[in-house]
Amino acid sequence: MTELERKHDRTPVPKEWAYAPAPESRDVVSLDERYGHYVGGQWLEPSETYTTISPASEEPLAEVGQATPEEVEAAVAAARDAFENGWSGASAAERAKYLFRIARILQERSREFAVLESLNGGKPIKESRDVDLPLAAAHFFYYAGWADKLEYAFPNRRPRPVGVAGQIIPWNFPLLMLSWKIAPALAAGNTVVLKPAETTPLSALLFADVLRQAELPPGVVNIVTGDGRTGAALVKSEGVDKIAFTGSTDVGKAIQRELAGTGKKLTLELGGKAANIIFDDAAIDQAVEGIVNGIYFNQGHVCCAGSRLLVQESIYEPVVEKLKRRLTTLRVGDPLDKNTDVGAINSEQQLDKIRELVESGEQEGAEIYQPPCRLPEKGYWFAPTVFTNVAQSYRIAQEEIFGPVLSVLTFRTPEEAVEKANNTPYGLSAGVWTEKGSRILWMAQRLRAGVVWANTFNRFDPSSPFGGYKESGFGREGGRHGLEPYMQFDGSEHFSG
Ligand code: NAP
Ligand code: MG
Repeated sequence: MTELERKHDRTPVPKEWAYAPAPESRDVVSLDERYGHYVGGQWLEPSETYTTISPASEEPLAEVGQATPEEVEAAVAAARDAFENGWSGASAAERAKYLFRIARILQERSREFAVLESLNGGKPIKESRDVDLPLAAAHFFYYAGWADKLEYAFPNRRPRPVGVAGQIIPWNFPLLMLSWKIAPALAAGNTVVLKPAETTPLSALLFADVLRQAELPPGVVNIVTGDGRTGAALVKSEGVDKIAFTGSTDVGKAIQRELAGTGKKLTLELGGKAANIIFDDAAIDQAVEGIVNGIYFNQGHVCCAGSRLLVQESIYEPVVEKLKRRLTTLRVGDPLDKNTDVGAINSEQQLDKIRELVESGEQEGAEIYQPPCRLPEKGYWFAPTVFTNVAQSYRIAQEEIFGPVLSVLTFRTPEEAVEKANNTPYGLSAGVWTEKGSRILWMAQRLRAGVVWANTFNRFDPSSPFGGYKESGFGREGGRHGLEPYMQFDGSEHFSG
């Protein structure tokens, strides 16, 4: 007997192949009981607070501030002071230095941030660890590189910072959205007041500690927490020169109305209802992985999620069958378990919205499929869901669900695929799966979407601009394009776009 055979002999054969729990340690994060607002490099005692929880267990995590308009004004004043008395005059290399430091510290503390992001937001640790954190650090590295090259990025246009940027972000990628906002703003020489989402304030508050470590001058970045009222106060503040908003289309429209005629610059990154289009020559197994990644990644709380699957009729049956089989292998549960694929829904409010839309799908006549899975009793959960037999007019084909729910439609010709894909008020992203390069180009030219992925989905890179058409908003984040909203140029002082 060889050594290997003997060893094999002694190893017991498992009775079942279920995964053992693989929990990530929570000890790497230490939370304060109560947080204030980070203003002018100091913690400002909040006049009102609320409790932020873990959506996976409903366990309270910390008390955080609900910023009043006066507290928002204090943050804006600190940002103005820092802009006028130092930051706007700092050399470009100096600004880059701080951005590089922030990027490095995020890398060093990535495990701590990943755990906190999963704890407060409900997303699986393998996603916060492998997607959110590396991308957040990459964003700071990328814009650090631009800080001293603005004259080359915008030749002969005399690029200058705008001033104080008010930034409002959603709860689906709290730290990543913070990075998308703060990195280009600082690279371009602006100062910032950032408001994280009500349900996920903690990673932004921990980020304040990164700023302290990086010795960023006080007031360059200020963080105020609170709900929509805090966001509205920031939008209204006269001391703000530019608003960058990521969130729902309804709130985006309200902000645009509020700012009309004020001369403040505005960018909006809003909702989506992306088509993921599978042609009959596509590699079906890879496409099925792309469909799963497109809609079940981050519980479907993704503005560019591939929530409408368009399958060419001739391959409809094998695709749907493989997809359903694949869904039975998705592990739903504890976000801090390293084997979890689908975590908790971010809030009770979001769960109610998903349930309402799913009920409407059943009532309108679509056929629902959910794999057998046991959902935890505490917390907010929704099983991965596929709807077949969906008509374009159904609400589940029209409205953004922002949850792990896929609507499957079919098409026969590329023209029909384009028409159906564009039949939406949104236009953030789209996916095309085909072996033919010429077809990818033909489709990409016709799809009215800011990003078109080919034979992949939900791929992000800081050098690639991201943003919408139509009701998905305007302005781009990422890439050289992402600097533009934070700059003013010769002759453009009166242009607020
Ligand atoms: P939301 O309600 O619009 O919230 C977004 C942010 O705006 C939050 O910080 C929110 O505070 C704040 N806010 C709410 N009302 C406000 C007001 N009247 N004035 C100023 N700020 C206000 O959206 P959500 O439900 O949190 O997020 C989901 C939506 O965001 C989806 O529609 C999704 O598609 C979109 N989204 C888009 C992108 C993108 O890049 N295009 C990325 C992520 C998400 P509260 O947290 O207290 O509500
Ligand atoms: Mg909201």
